[in-house]
Amino acid sequence: MPALRLRFDVAARREVTDRVDEALASGALTLGPQLAEFEARVEPWVGREAAAVSSGSAALEIAFRIIGVAGRTVLVPVNTFFATAAAAVRAGAVVDFVDMELDGLGLDPASLARALDRHPDVAAVTVVHIGGVISPAIHQVAATCRARGIPLVEDAAHAFGSRLDGAPAGTFGTYGAFSLYPTKVLTSAEGGILTAPGPAELNTVRRLRDHGRVAYEAGLHDCPGSNWRMSEVHAAIGLAQLERFDAATRARHALAARYDEHLSGVPGLRRYDVPAGVTANGYKYLAYLPDGVDRATLKARLRTHHGVALAGEVYDTLLCEQPYFTAQGAPPARDFPQARWFAAHHICLPLYPSITPDQQQRTLAALRTELANLC
Ligand SMILES: *Cc1c(COP(=O)(O)O)cnc(C)c1O
Repeated sequence: MPALRLRFDVAARREVTDRVDEALASGALTLGPQLAEFEARVEPWVGREAAAVSSGSAALEIAFRIIGVAGRTVLVPVNTFFATAAAAVRAGAVVDFVDMELDGLGLDPASLARALDRHPDVAAVTVVHIGGVISPAIHQVAATCRARGIPLVEDAAHAFGSRLDGAPAGTFGTYGAFSLYPTKVLTSAEGGILTAPGPAELNTVRRLRDHGRVAYEAGLHDCPGSNWRMSEVHAAIGLAQLERFDAATRARHALAARYDEHLSGVPGLRRYDVPAGVTANGYKYLAYLPDGVDRATLKARLRTHHGVALAGEVYDTLLCEQPYFTAQGAPPARDFPQARWFAAHHICLPLYPSITPDQQQRTLAALRTELANLC
């Protein structure tokens, strides 16, 4: 039983090959009609006009470059994927870390206030919607940023299709960056989406993704930019996935409901409850282990004795403990007690549209057996 299995049914594969065939026949292989259609079709999901790019990291880096973070501080949650912070570093920033809060898994407003006081030169604050949950604390974080005139960058890599009080991920920050990597809920094989505050900024995004070109026809460039384009082949895969996104989300919610129903039968395991007002996209199903259970040992036993793989954590290592940042004198993990607790205690149950009820039951039964042995 794999941790994740990506399935394209026959109809989805045919749609992709038909679209790729169209692209090949026309000779337009990048920045063409598939991309334009993809961008138009994602707009309702991300809440505003958006540009598609080559990856989630590219989307983040473009946002940081437009803001102009070079030589200044960017605040990043200490519990996120390395790419969130690395994108700011590539854009020339020095990053510092903020603790998380355990209700909505967002930035802890008190820890953010302390970090802002430590750094008078903050160029941007970054939030990450862990597991597809948009934390209600984002309202306070956004208000703090607005009051200080600091742009807020939303790393919405986990959160395509998630909402808070009806508003979609991608509308809370000055910029909203999505990843379309195969492990995310929507994929284009490789790709990303970036929302921007207005047409002028969005135009800059489109120029930056294409080597800082001043205008498409002209051979003039006014900034370095890069090759951050999404090809027509990738856009074709994204379009086929988007067509099926509603059904896939419904399937994720039904599977999550089945875990909800049966989780109380696993002594010691406590489910994470999404706060009121949040509609999560079902990217991750989180539960907490009792104190004293070592997750690595549990996962090894699930695998060897039951053939069950849990999904990947979000995340098992805090950024301040990543070798790149410890080498630069990052603060110790004890400075981030909530993130440290979360990193040590959470597990992610396998959740993807093609998992069967029987496989879910096997996962729960395996957890019941192994937790009884370890507690
Ligand atoms: C996946 C991910 C990214 C990076 O996306 P890529 O498309 O792989 O570049 C950034 N941030 C978070 C939180 C992610 O999960």
